[in-house]
Amino acid sequence: MVIEVTSGVLATLRAEADRAAPEECCGLLLGSGEPGREGRIETAVPAANISGQPHLRFEIDPLALLAAHKAARAGGPQVLGYYHSHPLGHPVPSAVDCEHSTGDLRIWAIIAGGHVAFWRDSGNGFQELTFRTVGKDCAEQS
Ligand SMILES: [Zn+2]
Repeated sequence: MVIEVTSGVLATLRAEADRAAPEECCGLLLGSGEPGREGRIETAVPAANISGQPHLRFEIDPLALLAAHKAARAGGPQVLGYYHSHPLGHPVPSAVDCEHSTGDLRIWAIIAGGHVAFWRDSGNGFQELTFRTVGKDCAEQS
């Protein structure tokens, strides 16, 4: 399955990872489509990492999650997934990430070393997704 990601989202994810290092950044991936199907990630929304060990783990601010789900129900963009960075690791799910897998079919983007990889929380482990970069946005052209 191939998902689409805008070039603006990829730029935001790399910038957020750089900004947060040596701690993990985290946030939400919004767009069109529904969990488990093809979709297009159009927006990355940074959230506070409220983990007590932010250089090793991430925990998305639950208020940010709540607000995004509420907006989605009101007709806004869908919550397609989540992102976080591995400041010293690789863009693959860690043992901690696997512990936090819920099998909700959402997309996990992991940023490490300037690379962004996309995974599906399939309920039977994480499966890497192929993605296609689409579109340009104003931020990239400026
Ligand atoms: Zn992780």
